[in-house]
Amino acid sequence: MAPTDNPHEPFGIDYAPAPESTAVVNIAKTYGHFINGDFVEPSSGATFPTVNPATETHLANIADGSAEDVDRAVAAARAAFEGPWGQMPGSERGKYLFRIARQLQERSREFAVLETMDGGKPIKESRDLDLPLSAAWFFYYAGWADKLEYAFPNRSVAPHGVAGQIVPWNFPLMMAAWKLAPALTAGNTVVLKPAETTPLTALLLADVLQNIDLPPGVVNIVTGAGATGAAIVDHRGIDKLAFTGSTEVGKAIQRAASARRIPLTLELGGKAAHIVFEDSAIDQAVEGVVTGIYSNQGHVCCAGSRLLVEESIADSFVERLRRRISTLRLGDPLDKNTDVGAINSADQLQRITDMVATGVSEGADLFQPECDLPDKGYWFPPSVFTGVQQSHTVAREEIFGPVLTVQTFRTAEEAVEKANNTPYGLSAGIWTEKGSKILWMTEKLRAGVVWANTYNQFDPASPFGGYKESGFGREGGMHGLAPYLHERADLTGGGA
Ligand code: NDP
Repeated sequence: MAPTDNPHEPFGIDYAPAPESTAVVNIAKTYGHFINGDFVEPSSGATFPTVNPATETHLANIADGSAEDVDRAVAAARAAFEGPWGQMPGSERGKYLFRIARQLQERSREFAVLETMDGGKPIKESRDLDLPLSAAWFFYYAGWADKLEYAFPNRSVAPHGVAGQIVPWNFPLMMAAWKLAPALTAGNTVVLKPAETTPLTALLLADVLQNIDLPPGVVNIVTGAGATGAAIVDHRGIDKLAFTGSTEVGKAIQRAASARRIPLTLELGGKAAHIVFEDSAIDQAVEGVVTGIYSNQGHVCCAGSRLLVEESIADSFVERLRRRISTLRLGDPLDKNTDVGAINSADQLQRITDMVATGVSEGADLFQPECDLPDKGYWFPPSVFTGVQQSHTVAREEIFGPVLTVQTFRTAEEAVEKANNTPYGLSAGIWTEKGSKILWMTEKLRAGVVWANTYNQFDPASPFGGYKESGFGREGGMHGLAPYLHERADLTGGGA
C-alpha cells in the first residue's frame, strides 16, 4: 500500500486518557544521603529541589553532597569492604542480589511511576523497559557471585575495594542497576551518585537495600550535582571508577583516574547510524527507526540519531517516516498511551532547542509534525532533518533529544564510510533481508553494538559499550564483571 493510501486522520481514532495512578508512590519532603545503611543529613545542611519535568511541580528536596559527605560514604564503604562484605562467601553475596531483583519486581509499579514523575519518560517505557531490565541485571549477576573461579578459570581474582559510580539522568535506576550489580557480585562496596535531576529511584532503591538487610556501608548513595561527582572522582579512598554521561565529563574523569592510576570504565555519548537498505522490510524499518530515535525523547546514548537510507527508497521512506511520527502521542508521561514524554530538564530543552536552531541556520530542512505541546513542563516535538550534509553540526554532534537527521547512500561501502564518519562508536543499526550483508557490515562498522533488523535490544548477558569517544570498557555479561575484579598477586583463590 502506498503511504498516501492510508492516512490515519480519516479514521478519527482518539484515545481516552489512561493515566497511571500516582497513589502507589510515597515521596518524602526531604531526602538525606544514604550512608552506612541509614539516611543522614548532608553535612552542609544544603538541599536542592527535584521537579517533575512534565509539570514543573516540586517533588522533594534532596541533600546536596559535599566532599565531607563523600568522605563519610567512602569511610562506610571501606569499613564494609574490610568487614562483613569482604569476608562473605560469594554464595551469600549472591543471595542479596537475588533479593534486590525480587524486590524490584515486586515493587516495579512504584518504581516505574516514580521514575516517570522524576524524569519525564513515558510510563510504558519505565514499566516495560527500565524496571524489567534493572531486575534482570541483578538476577543475572547474582548467578555469578559464587562462580567467579569458573568465570575466570586459572586466574585468581579479587574485588578492587570501594567503587565510585556516577550515573546520568536518562535511565536513572537502570544505570544504577547496571553498575551496582556487577560491582557487588564481584565483592566490591560502592559509593553511587545519581544525577541531580533524577535522584528519586536511587533513593527508593536505598529503601529496598534496607528491607533486605544489606550490611550497612555496602552501598552508599550520595546525591548532588557535578561537584559531588567530582568529589567522588577525586577521593583517594576510591579504588575503581565507573561513569556514564557526557564525553566532556568523561574526559575530565579519565584525566583524574589516570593521574592516580585507578581502573576506570566510561560509557559516554553516541551518534549512531541507523542504516536502511532498499531490500529491508520497509514498515518494520520505519518502526525501528522511530523506536531508535524517539524512545525516551532521544535521551539515549545509543539512539539511532543518524538515518542513512539507500537513495533508491529515500523519498518514500522519509514520507512514511513523517506520517508515522505524525501519529506519535506526545504528552502526559504517566498516560499509558503516551509515546513521547517530557524533556528531562530546562537545561536539556535549551540544548536541544539551540542545536535544532543551528541545524536550520546551517541549511538543513526541518520537519516537525503538528502537535500541541502542553503549557507547563519541558517539551520538544519529534523532529526530522533532511537535506543534511556531513559537515552540519546536527549530523556530527550528539543532540540527546528527539531529533533525527537523514542522509542517503548508494552502496554498502558508502553507508559504512558515512556511518563510521563520527568521533563516536557506541552503536549502529542495519535493516536488510540479506544475512550476508549484515555480516559484512557488522565487521566494518566501528560500533560496540550493532543491531540487525531491530533496535534498542538489551540483555544482561550481552556486553554493551563503545569505541573512540563513546568510552571504553563494557557493561553486561562477563565483560561487565571483569572491570570490577583484579588479578591477585598470590594464587590462593577466593573472592568467590
Ligand atoms: P553529565 O556528563 O554532566 O552528567 C552525567 C553524570 O555526571 C551526572 O550524575 C552528573 O551530575 C555527573 N557529573 C557532572 N559533572 C561532573 C564532574 N565534573 N565530575 C564527576 N561527575 C560529574 O551530562 P549532562 O547531564 O550535563 O548532559 C550533557 C550532555 O551529555 C547531554 O546533552 C548528552 O549529550 C550527554 N549525556 C550523555 C549520556 C549518555 O548516556 N551517554 C547521559 C547523559 C548525558 P549532575 O547531573 O548531577 O550534574
